[in-house]
Amino acid sequence: MMIKENEPLEKYTTFRMGGNAKKMYFPETVDELCDLIKSDDNILSHVIGGGSNILINDQKEYEHVLCLKNFNKKMIAFGNGHYYVGSSVSLQKLIKTIQTDGYGGIEYLFSVPGLTGGAIYMNAGRGKKYGKCISDYLTEVEVLRHGEICRIDKTSCCFSYRTSIFQNMPDCIILGAKFKFPQVSRKESEMRIQERIHLCKKNQDMTSPNFGTVFCESNKYIMAFVKKFHPGYKNGCTFSAKTANWMLRGKNGTFEQAISLLNKVRRWHCLFGQKCRTEVRIWS
Ligand SMILES: Cc1cc2nc3c(=O)[nH]c(=O)nc-3n(C[C@H](O)[C@H](O)[C@H](O)COP(=O)(O)OP(=O)(O)OC[C@H]3O[C@@H](n4cnc5c(N)ncnc54)[C@H](O)[C@@H]3O)c2cc1C
Repeated sequence: MMIKENEPLEKYTTFRMGGNAKKMYFPETVDELCDLIKSDDNILSHVIGGGSNILINDQKEYEHVLCLKNFNKKMIAFGNGHYYVGSSVSLQKLIKTIQTDGYGGIEYLFSVPGLTGGAIYMNAGRGKKYGKCISDYLTEVEVLRHGEICRIDKTSCCFSYRTSIFQNMPDCIILGAKFKFPQVSRKESEMRIQERIHLCKKNQDMTSPNFGTVFCESNKYIMAFVKKFHPGYKNGCTFSAKTANWMLRGKNGTFEQAISLLNKVRRWHCLFGQKCRTEVRIWS
């Protein structure tokens, strides 16, 4: 297993921000992961998958960080749309593999730069009005908890919009999951992927590092108001002028700036008695 010392974490997040990891572990097998956890429970307090939904404090040094990008890239097809997918399989790889076999249904996730484990943890999907998420075709999740491999069926995972039970289980690592995908012709699946790419190019601001949508629950009028009056910091963290509810990291962006913008949004929601929930996971 690769272990890196004093590793800058900005390299591992799409927001390109982070402090240092005193020790960063890259387990490749369940045994390696089990040994690590046995050696120190705190190993599980900071876990990175694809790093596309994490905002890390750039002033902090983290004792241990677990990176799962090299971990479980296994994909097994059982036939009839049934698959086992390892937590480190990228969403693009998953979509392309099932496409080759004539299955689909999650092509809208092609634009999401995450891994399957992170997508299950976040219950990644399309915007709320579309009601589509990775858990639609999931049947069971395989996790490591207290040194044991357990299987959790879908109903016990409490999936809802950008929520899963795993967000309340800090002692648990998602190892992989079983899915049953519907039949979709290769042509249709490819068309859906291309449509998604086109839509994202048109609507998503990729001019600077970002972590996708900032708040999974917010009031669009308050968001627009905050963006107008607190657009952000010159060459630092700003709300995107192009995409609503989207933060960009300029070259001088800092964690403090990002948090200050998030807090402004929260305060205005609080003032007007509106709900707001941050989607990005914050390591403060
Ligand atoms: C350009 C862009 C577009 C995006 N578009 C979308 C979109 O359309 N829809 C959407 O839902 N999201 C979107 N996102 C957000 C993000 O990509 C998703 O939430 C994604 O599923 C996160 O996966 P990840 O592997 O990067 O997880 P990470 O960001 O690495 O981690 C997210 C959380 O999951 C935990 N975690 C990760 N892997 C595991 C594991 N195996 N076991 C236990 N815990 C784990 C981490 O500790 C962390 O708390 C977008 C982000 C970007 C940058």
